[in-house]
Amino acid sequence: MKRLFAAIALAAAAAASFAQGTSTSPAQGYPGKPITLVVPFAAGGPTDVVARALGQAMTRTLGQAIVIENKLGAGGTLAAGYVAKAAPDGYTLLIHHNGMSTAPALYRKLAYNPLTDFEYVTQVVDVPMTLLGRKDLPAKDLQELIAYLKANAAKVNLAHAGLGAVSHLCGMVFRQAIGVELQTVPYQGTAPAMNALLGGQVDLLCDQTTQTTQHIKAGSVKLYGVTTRERIKALPDAPTLQEQGLRNFEVVVWHGVYAPKGTPKEVIDKVNAAVRAALKDPTVIQRMSELGGEIVPESKQTPEALRGWLKTEVDRWGPVIRAAGVYAD
Ligand code: ASP
Repeated sequence: MKRLFAAIALAAAAAASFAQGTSTSPAQGYPGKPITLVVPFAAGGPTDVVARALGQAMTRTLGQAIVIENKLGAGGTLAAGYVAKAAPDGYTLLIHHNGMSTAPALYRKLAYNPLTDFEYVTQVVDVPMTLLGRKDLPAKDLQELIAYLKANAAKVNLAHAGLGAVSHLCGMVFRQAIGVELQTVPYQGTAPAMNALLGGQVDLLCDQTTQTTQHIKAGSVKLYGVTTRERIKALPDAPTLQEQGLRNFEVVVWHGVYAPKGTPKEVIDKVNAAVRAALKDPTVIQRMSELGGEIVPESKQTPEALRGWLKTEVDRWGPVIRAAGVYAD
């Protein structure tokens, strides 16, 4: 009898070790091929700049290329909808900004739910915005700009990257703060919107410093103010809109990395570790600090923190947007 038990125990142990040896966890071998990081706006724009900086550093950690795919349209909602429906295998990821939280109130027919159709990887960087005018706009500073807009509202236009884009949100907050209706011109990202501003086809653009710093430093646009509470290190001479009298004017762009719902936790953990490593990479740190981007503290570099923040932002913007009656069918 004893011998029988011993034999059974031996067989069970052998079976267990065989099972261990052959079972494959979903993250085993991941990533075994290039990963696509979807950017909802045009190449060369501010969101794209953040994505490419991260992607290059992640490639070094993961040993696989991070391929940036710019999926344009509908203020970033086409890209988010595309990733929500992609295979949940860790090979299709999304980087997006505040638009992830404003879209449910802005779009009556949204093809996804930001709070239930994704896995959350981490927040990455916070980026200030700047209010810019074309170089030959007659107004020298914010006060002159406001006077100019009041007198010329009908012929002034503001470029933006579509309903759900932060350039649109910033423009709307500005419009409301000064009480002037401005014409708006949508583009599929603020890279083309910036080209239109540089070419003098549009008058105003509010955009992230990850794109605007170089043009401000080159003197090719007029700077009317920064959208943060305090001045920023990357542009120390640039006044904030608040210090020039637009009380409570604050728009900060936050970014998160997402994966389709159902992506295995082990895969999310690997991507999270690679993004965290990228956020410690000296090249990324330097690039972000030159461009005014602030890497989020480690406490925000978790899936839970991103999910929690997104929920807070959805709850914050929903009522504001619904009250303003801005929406797309
Ligand atoms: N800055 C853009 C926005 O307004 C997006 C972009 O082109 O990166 O949302």
